[in-house]
Amino acid sequence: MHEQTLAIHAGYEKDTQGTMAVPIYQSTAYQFRDSEHAANLFALKELGNIYTRLMNPTTDVFEKRFAALEGGVAAIGTASGMAAIFYTIANIAEAGDNIVVASQVYGGTNTLATHTIKRFGIEARFFDVNDLSTLEPLIDEKTKLILFESLTNPSIDVADIEAIAEIANEHGILSCVDNTVATPVLCKPLSYGIDLVVHSTSKYTTGQGLALGGIIVERDNLVEKIKGNSRYYHFNEPDASYHGLVYVDVPLPIFTLRVRLALLRDLGGAPSPFNSWLHIQGLETLPLRMRQHSASALAIAEFLESHPKVKKVNYPGLKSSPHYDLAQRYFKEGMASGLLSFEVESKEAAQRIADSTEIFSVVVNIGDSKSIITHPASTTHQQLNKEELEAAGVPEGLIRLSVGLEDTQDLIEDLKRALAKI
Ligand SMILES: *Cc1c(COP(=O)(O)O)cnc(C)c1O
Repeated sequence: MHEQTLAIHAGYEKDTQGTMAVPIYQSTAYQFRDSEHAANLFALKELGNIYTRLMNPTTDVFEKRFAALEGGVAAIGTASGMAAIFYTIANIAEAGDNIVVASQVYGGTNTLATHTIKRFGIEARFFDVNDLSTLEPLIDEKTKLILFESLTNPSIDVADIEAIAEIANEHGILSCVDNTVATPVLCKPLSYGIDLVVHSTSKYTTGQGLALGGIIVERDNLVEKIKGNSRYYHFNEPDASYHGLVYVDVPLPIFTLRVRLALLRDLGGAPSPFNSWLHIQGLETLPLRMRQHSASALAIAEFLESHPKVKKVNYPGLKSSPHYDLAQRYFKEGMASGLLSFEVESKEAAQRIADSTEIFSVVVNIGDSKSIITHPASTTHQQLNKEELEAAGVPEGLIRLSVGLEDTQDLIEDLKRALAKI
């Protein structure tokens, strides 16, 4: 089936009432048929609902639908994108291990890697996604994961996904792409040899800035890479926390299974059924919305590029972008999502533009139907001085836009008016 059909139907079989819309199963727990049924569910002899920290029928539809869109075999929803990223790391790494992470990642991913997992004894080593010769030297026998973003937030670079997958596969290391900004509509990392995909579904998936959420998607046959692989010995040996279960012997997708059985059980960052339901509504229109976000962002990028007061525009859909070729190669029909940035002369000029727009709101979020303008130097990157800002690729005069779904011409006029004020 094609993507737009999967986005509307995958993972849902109508209940006995014939309910067209996926119902919200707003329940903490589920009744067992009898004690034997209960025992079977806990022993994985039968699959079924136990408790909403582990699974929920509304969330289940969301997971199946998302897995279908990514071309994966299974998925597990989490309370936020950061929970999805942390659980991916925690599912495979322990004290003494390391993970290899792209420098160009979301701020929360950077602090998680640099500071928080360090306190659990897990080291993060950073490579430059624009220079893959920096990647391989970081790998050793304790490396458990290579993590990067397909389309990076906020720097808007495009990763050479196949080249990174190849390095990961040569070393038998699991690879994971944060596909939040590209979405499965533009890019399906699993089809390029990647093992796992994570998302913040708080962005383009919900699409209207309505609900936090995250998801982890697993590729088919991941067990082949894990079985007998000493890096992942804990999937190959009996798990004392689950009566000696050996994950590689279970005929189910084992990465997401272990997140469910061990991490959601013990750490508890499960999604609420209502938020899963909101995400299901978002998925129905995701393919349509991504076309419009991408088309508007390209039109705005072209307008900005031709404006005399704009020094530079960063958007991988522009022919002038150093990422144009990778975007054409990895993103469907060359669509490049709704995120772009541009540079004006000074910090003051950038702030004046942000304050002068009427349709764009000053907000730190992306992927909303409502357009957003951010001045990183005075908000997300406020703590950095001028030199540090340059090094981080965030010059003082940089403005980031998350282009929403308003009329493209209205958005261009709004920016034209604001630029006239500097
Ligand atoms: C927002 C974001 C996250 C974090 O997701 P939350 O849902 O806010 O926890 C992770 N990665 C990327 C690329 C993001 O944009």
